[in-house]
Amino acid sequence: TDPALLRNFCIIAHIDHGKSTLADRMLQLTGVVEQRQMRAQYLDRMDIERERGITIKSQAVRMPWAADGVTHVLNMIDTPGHVDFTYEVSRSLAACEGCILLVDAAQGIEAQTLANLYLAMENDLTIIPVLNKIDLPAAQPDKFAAELARLIGCEPEDVLRVSAKTGEGVPGLLDEVVRQVPAPVGEPDSPARAMIFDSVYDAYRGVVTYVKVVDGRLGRRERIQMMSTGATHELLEIGVNSPEMTPADGLAVGEVGYLITGVKDVRQSKVGDTVTLQRGGASEPLGGYKDPKPMVFSGLYPIDGSDYPALRDALEKLQLNDAALVYEPETSAALGFGFRVGFLGLLHLEVIRERLEREFGLDLIATAPNVVYQVGMEDGARHTVTNPSEFPGGKVAEVREPVVRATLLAPSEYIGAIMELCQNRRGTMQGMDYLSEDRVELRYTLPLAEIVFDFFDALKSKTRGYASLDYEPVGEVAADLVKVDILLHGDKVDAFSAIVHKDKAYAYGVKMAAKLRELIPRQQFEVPIQAAIGSRVIARETVRAMRKDVLSKCYGGDISRKRKLLEKQKEGKKRMKMVGRVEVPQEAFIAALSSD
Ligand code: GDP
Ligand code: MG
Repeated sequence: TDPALLRNFCIIAHIDHGKSTLADRMLQLTGVVEQRQMRAQYLDRMDIERERGITIKSQAVRMPWAADGVTHVLNMIDTPGHVDFTYEVSRSLAACEGCILLVDAAQGIEAQTLANLYLAMENDLTIIPVLNKIDLPAAQPDKFAAELARLIGCEPEDVLRVSAKTGEGVPGLLDEVVRQVPAPVGEPDSPARAMIFDSVYDAYRGVVTYVKVVDGRLGRRERIQMMSTGATHELLEIGVNSPEMTPADGLAVGEVGYLITGVKDVRQSKVGDTVTLQRGGASEPLGGYKDPKPMVFSGLYPIDGSDYPALRDALEKLQLNDAALVYEPETSAALGFGFRVGFLGLLHLEVIRERLEREFGLDLIATAPNVVYQVGMEDGARHTVTNPSEFPGGKVAEVREPVVRATLLAPSEYIGAIMELCQNRRGTMQGMDYLSEDRVELRYTLPLAEIVFDFFDALKSKTRGYASLDYEPVGEVAADLVKVDILLHGDKVDAFSAIVHKDKAYAYGVKMAAKLRELIPRQQFEVPIQAAIGSRVIARETVRAMRKDVLSKCYGGDISRKRKLLEKQKEGKKRMKMVGRVEVPQEAFIAALSSD
């Protein structure tokens, strides 16, 4: 295709503002999906995406559209909409020359509207502002057109108005995409360079890699090379999605499509990497490649220990399609055999956990999520700690923790509540702006550890669901952090060790000790429960001793009855874990770990 006729664009929006619905409407209007086959959110293929209404993996679709008498080729790239997947969003944006900035006409600008807009501006994209859901009675298009125009610096009349649901205004929007989005430019005669913006595992075809060709051309049967690793593969198939996979002879400058090489693992075809040809290939990769970096770790354990091999197989399968998922085996005295798993963020964790439980039928217990700490010792040694129970003993000079820049948007009446919440979470305010007279944007730096747990829920409940949040990692800072251990009868319970700020250590210790006292049954002897920082005890509870003699219930002689009772007791003991001398039912650990 002549690059002058190509238009590569994406739709960016806050979650639920109608991105997938608009994509559906475009597929229908351009005729690539017939009316009969149309189902809602055609592009959201994963079940879990459809149920939760979120887009996790992006997809690219090619659609013909005639504007001003000429048929153009539109490549629409659907991007994941959530904070954890910012890097994937940014790669999808880098494959485009323009974007549709979609805003719900009944809601206005939200945190991810802004986050995505900034990413689009960093990538120099042409931005087409659009209000969606104008069919809703609660829509306030005039008010939000003004808000949007002020934000991106255009006239309110330039803000288009559509209903993705009814299709009103969508043909006009496609015309504007052709008029406003620049055609891609590249060097057709230079060595081939294509950027990978998505990589998906397919059980039948292996990894399907989505690319945009920036320079040169990639053809069927050629040998390609991944520039980050030097690995080479044969192009078994190359083609475009329209919307099903359609093979082609090759992809030229500006074109967006897929590659199949037969590799079985998305880590061999990484998002952000540059593809070139093995022979006569490019020497410089395209910029912007980053290795995915897990930010949050949690221990995952099967509730039934015999499920351990099944959990390992399931993680292996999920990793085929998720380059950001990392894990390694881990043993816990309290929970048995399991894995320490690294995630991009909390949503990523939740999605993986849900898939393990739902698609693989596993019952799991997860330890409280924690971030990655850098610990510097006085003797100069440095440790990366992804599991609090592995926090080094000895003289610690400094502990560094990851921090994020958070953007919070809410109606102005909630400013006080948000400031209080952020202060309690060790936040530092960076600035505040009014987007309109009743909507405000607050910017904070916050430790990631303070938001991975329940920050989002707390924010929603304090603002009655009206606030939205977006954040991005901005490095690491030193903080006054200590490791709190929980001891049962003098023995550490590894699953409950936590790294917390000094000011919060006492509260954590008191809470966990009290919780465990409730959950641990009486033993033959007195069991102290202690919270300690190093050798210093900061909280203590006691489970009092009880003479638990089942046989005393038997009043004398019936020997077979006694035997039955003993057997039953043995049965019950199977699900007991020993921590030192203390017997703890596994349920107690599970209950103590689940958030309240
Ligand atoms: P996404 O998260 O941005 O992909 O949003 P979806 O496309 O999944 O839409 C979120 C919800 O808004 C769904 O229930 C849609 O049916 C609804 N929706 C999307 N566009 C419109 C519209 O133009 N009008 C109305 N009334 N509802 C819409
Ligand atoms: Mg969607």
